[in-house]
Amino acid sequence: MTTENKPLQKILVINAEIQSNRLLDQIIQSMGFTVLVSESIENAQQYFTINIPSLVIINENIAAQNNFNWIKSIRQKYPLLPFILYTINENHQTLKQALRLGINDYLSTPLTRDDIQNSIQANLSRSQTLRNHVLFESRRATQQLQARVNDLETLTDLARMVTSSLDVDIVLRMIVESAVELTGAEEGSLMLIDEKTGELYMRASRNFNEDFVSTFRLPVNDSLIGSVVQNGKVVIFDDNTPQKIKTSYLVHSLVYIPLKLKEQIIGVLGVDNRNKRMVFSQRDIGLLTTMAEYAVIAIENSRIFSEMVVERKKLETIINQIEDGVLVLDNDFRILIINEIAKTVLRVSGEHLVGSPIQMYPIDTELLEIIKKFETYLGKSAEINADDERIFSAHLSKITNIGYAITLHDITSLKKLDRIKSDFVSTVSHDLRSPLTAILGYVDLVERAGPVQELQKNFLDRIQFSVHNITTLVDDLLNLGRIEAGFDTRKEPLDLSVFIHQAIDELNPKFLQANMRLKINVLDSSGLIFASPIQIRQLLNNLLTNAIKYSNPDTHISIELKEKENQLILQIADQGFGIPAVDLPYIFDKFYRSGNVIGTEIPGSGLGLAIVKSIVESHHGRIWVDSTIGQGSTFTIVFPISE
Ligand code: ADP
Repeated sequence: MTTENKPLQKILVINAEIQSNRLLDQIIQSMGFTVLVSESIENAQQYFTINIPSLVIINENIAAQNNFNWIKSIRQKYPLLPFILYTINENHQTLKQALRLGINDYLSTPLTRDDIQNSIQANLSRSQTLRNHVLFESRRATQQLQARVNDLETLTDLARMVTSSLDVDIVLRMIVESAVELTGAEEGSLMLIDEKTGELYMRASRNFNEDFVSTFRLPVNDSLIGSVVQNGKVVIFDDNTPQKIKTSYLVHSLVYIPLKLKEQIIGVLGVDNRNKRMVFSQRDIGLLTTMAEYAVIAIENSRIFSEMVVERKKLETIINQIEDGVLVLDNDFRILIINEIAKTVLRVSGEHLVGSPIQMYPIDTELLEIIKKFETYLGKSAEINADDERIFSAHLSKITNIGYAITLHDITSLKKLDRIKSDFVSTVSHDLRSPLTAILGYVDLVERAGPVQELQKNFLDRIQFSVHNITTLVDDLLNLGRIEAGFDTRKEPLDLSVFIHQAIDELNPKFLQANMRLKINVLDSSGLIFASPIQIRQLLNNLLTNAIKYSNPDTHISIELKEKENQLILQIADQGFGIPAVDLPYIFDKFYRSGNVIGTEIPGSGLGLAIVKSIVESHHGRIWVDSTIGQGSTFTIVFPISE
């Protein structure tokens, strides 16, 4: 590079003496430098904004002006900039202070050309040497840092692979390859212990002969690698290693890192050099240890994954072979598990069922309602008619943290039996009805056929009363039979308040006859319930008739309908005889009548409340009674509101 192209180096002179400045200017220029002259620090400061000078010569008086503080601050910013003190008196104190501040040299009067030239040359060249050294060191540090960044990048890539790939072979191969590349070794291998034989085999390798890899088997008890397995310690071996370790393999240097799973050693990660005389460093050991940990994670992940697959397959086989239908949904009603029977019964078909929302399929509307409003229908079951005419009872349960389980149990045979029983009861009831009607007819005729005595009239009344009772019983039996046989079960969304008003109207003559007063408090625009109209009429009729039957004339009956938390609450309360506490648990049983009415003239079969209970249950509701003898009874029914 020629001097013309090279920007001239600048020497800053801070000095107020005209004479010495002239001399300095002349000598420095003759040396090929640009001279910048300042008579004060304030003025000199401007040269530190853009083009920093290469050397500063400063008059001791100016330097000492603010106690050398300016020099201090400039040196902090530019530690390699050489300062030369121009001293007139060679004051011992000033020189000492200047030296402490790192002033590199001093010039004293009389100023000579040689002194000036030598001092400037020496200080510039020392500063250049320092500069080169700093540059060299920082380059070396950058290179080291770059190498470290490369190591970390490789490790990060490996870590990403370990967590994202389920193919353990690929991951282990990558680990061995990275181990060889990052350590600069010639060969690398990952050996695992065969659980059956206890020997080491090569699971992944780099630069080993394929035949060697496939036949490699090493007992762990007497080899160098074996010692790693037995002690769980890293082995480093090279030409400098003082004690000679026996190895079947001729190498100059090697490193073996144990693969530790919890406290157990499951294999070894190794790298070696057969030809190169290269020693492995602590950095290599650090990298290999991290890679060994990755290998263990990959092996363990793959083991857990295959175990999971096996377990899932087992579970699938079990679930598919169960005779009941099984459907498990997550909290968003998406399919998690479904077996073949459940698919058939619920008409769920297609690929990729897992994850699809159950609402997508044409499943039974009642079951869907129960699933969607699970909390309301807790513990309830629904009956489902499959396309092949089988009948299933669907039972729902909540599985914490997962969602819902629905089991479908085939109740076709039970239903058949039930139907046979109901058919029998209804045939007998029907057959009984005709002779009873005939008896009643003839009893009427007896009175019309001619005069009857008082006693005969009394007997005829009794016959009539008893036949009426039997007729009610037969009617109730027929009703119960119909409900149990699943007749009149067609459900639709209906407004319960409308049905309550209708039932009150129909029973009005009876209320009037008994001189009962009604208190009606029925919410008009309530939510709808999903119910069978015929059964709801029957339920209201039974409860209201009972309230009249089991109360004295001139008392109140109150009918109330409220809505609360997605439920309708119906309460029918009377001021009647009440039910003895001992009878309360059995009051909804078939043919059960409470002790205080048995033996009275009040007609009844003991079937009315059994019918009511069956109806409530088939509507997924609840019923209970509160009663106090002599004060009255309150029947409460809760129905879930349909969407
Ligand atoms: P029944 O045909 O006898 O009325 P139910 O099944 O309707 O049969 O009622 C069963 C029994 O419950 C009745 O016999 C009676 O003892 C009692 N019971 C029902 N409703 C009431 C009521 N509102 N007040 C008092 N007791 C009642």
